[in-house]
Order: sequence, then structure tokens, then C-alpha cells
Amino acid sequence: MKAAVLKKFGDPLVWEEVPTPEPGPEEVRLQVMACGTDGTDLKMVQGFGYTPVLPFIIGHEITGVVDAVGSRVTDWQPGARAIAYNFFPCGRCRHCLTHREQICQNMAGVMGARVKHGGYAEYLCLPARQVVAIPAHVSWPDAAVIPDAVITALHGVDRARLQLNETVLIFGAGGVGSSAIQIAKMRGARVAAVDRSADKVRRALEMGADAAWNSCDSDSVQLARDFSQGFGVDCVIDVVGVEQTMAAGIEALRPGGRLVVIGYTPEVYGLNGKRLAQNELEIIGTRAGRFQDLIDSVEVVAGGRFKSIVTDLFPMEEVNRAMDALRAGEILGRAVLLTPAGRKTMEVQ
Ligand SMILES: [Zn+2]
Repeated sequence: MKAAVLKKFGDPLVWEEVPTPEPGPEEVRLQVMACGTDGTDLKMVQGFGYTPVLPFIIGHEITGVVDAVGSRVTDWQPGARAIAYNFFPCGRCRHCLTHREQICQNMAGVMGARVKHGGYAEYLCLPARQVVAIPAHVSWPDAAVIPDAVITALHGVDRARLQLNETVLIFGAGGVGSSAIQIAKMRGARVAAVDRSADKVRRALEMGADAAWNSCDSDSVQLARDFSQGFGVDCVIDVVGVEQTMAAGIEALRPGGRLVVIGYTPEVYGLNGKRLAQNELEIIGTRAGRFQDLIDSVEVVAGGRFKSIVTDLFPMEEVNRAMDALRAGEILGRAVLLTPAGRKTMEVQ
């Protein structure tokens, strides 16, 4: 098979011939049709964040067709359309047993990020229990982004514990942010979105945000107060996670409000402890999602009300061009790479 291989941090990926993996007894093999690309991938190529042993195949937004099944797999047949859950949890620790698999204490790997090769390839194998079916009417690009952009937004909104008519301020209106806008609206919240890009501000409104503004030329704290009748917002969801957004988020919250942190950078910085304590604010971290969140995310995307967050398609062979566009800030939502097989089936659809 062909795969885009990361051979050296800082270098472009190399599209080349590698051995096609064979499924173990409890695994299925997916013929990859599409794989999303995002900031986590960019960081990895540069050698930040996850640093797998090289050579390595990245890519953690994976969809395809089950192509072969292991000898002990009974619930999957070749030909099924599916997406992949990225975490390889132990199934036995405190967190696995309380259905928080994404923070498993004995994680064997994360697909396309650590130990387990990912989806910038024509095929990959994974445990059958980590595969979820997708309906035929969900396109390959829309299916691909479910295991990262959509699940992260859905789990983040769950962690926010949004109540009907609560106000939420979302920092970042890219792939995860525009998913979070839509899911928070589905949950009955009033949503304001903030981004540094005028195009993403416009897109946030198209995705259903009740208000959106550009952080470069606006006072986000004041606008968030105006949006919430002067009280401060009930919740902030920070998809960016830099010092400015975290500090503005804490200032924008009403007493008792919740700050949900999705995005992060290598930065470490101080926070306003007095404001946190005296206003009983909550800071809530959130990582991707639980396995059940992946199933729920498929239902959200398949349900018909969710607008596609995919704005750009590239042939997988041209992955470096896609990553350059992402690095240059040219991708408004999500970019998705299509394998030769994926392109062929999309022509048929
Ligand atoms: Zn575990």
C-alpha cells in the first residue's frame, strides 16, 4: 500500500510504498477512504505535542470500508462503512470502567499520534471494538471529521453541562469551534463565537451562532457582557487555549460560571486566582471524547441538521500541500485528504 510517512520531524511527509498491514484475530482492516488533517498533525510534523518513534504514519480522523476481518471477529463484515475510535484503552482501569476511555491510565496508544499508525495511508488495522458504523448518506469527508472535530465538540459541550437558554462564548471558530457552535445550539444554548479571522467570524454566523465578532478589533469581555445582559456568560468554551483567550474567558464569566478548556499550546501561564475563588468559577478540562460520544457524534452528523464543517478536499498524495494551507491559515473549517479509492467512490456517489 501507499502511505504518507513522517520520517524526520520538520521534513515534509513522504508518499511511498509500505507493507500492507494484516489484521490480528480481533482486528479489522479498513481500506481508508478519507482522513482529516488538523493542528495536532501540524504540531506532530514539527516535533511538538505527540512525538512518536519514526518512521510513523500520522492521521487521526479516519473513515473507510472494512476490507478484512480477523478470525475471532463476528460482528463486522467486509464492505461495511466505518469510522475509527482513536484511543486504545485497557478496558480495566478506573477510568475505563467508568466510561472515560480517553483518559485511560494504561493507554496502549493513540491512533496516528502515539504507537499506533494512523490514517494517512491506504489501509490500517485496529481492534474491531474500536470501530463504529456510519450510514450510507454521510459522505466520506463528513464521516472523516467525526472522530476528532465533532467528538471533541460534543464531549466539550457535555462537559460544559449547558442548560436551556444559557449563554456560551466560544473562542475559535474553525473545525472544532464550528461543531461546538452547532451542538451548543442543538442543546438550547445562546451562542457567541470569537475568532481572529473575519472569514471564520462570518462562518460562525452561518453555523448558527447568535453573535460573533473578531477578537482583533473588539473587546471580547465587554461584548460577552453585552451578550448576557451585563451578567457575564454562563460558560466559555476555549478551543484556542492561549493566555489571552483563557484570561478573557475568566473575565467574561458570570459568578459561578464554567470555563471549558479544549485547546492548548506549549505555553504555561498564570491565572487570576482571586477572581476564580471569589466568584466560584469552575475550570473544566476536556479531551476528545468517550467511545459513547463517538456513537452520539455519528447520530448528530447523520441527523440532517448538522452543517458540514469540511471546507477543503485534497488528494492524500498531496498531503504536504494541505498542511501548508493549514499552516498558512487558509483552511476555514476542516481539510480532508481523500485516498485514490476514496476519490473513486465519491465519483460514483
Ligand atoms: Zn483503562
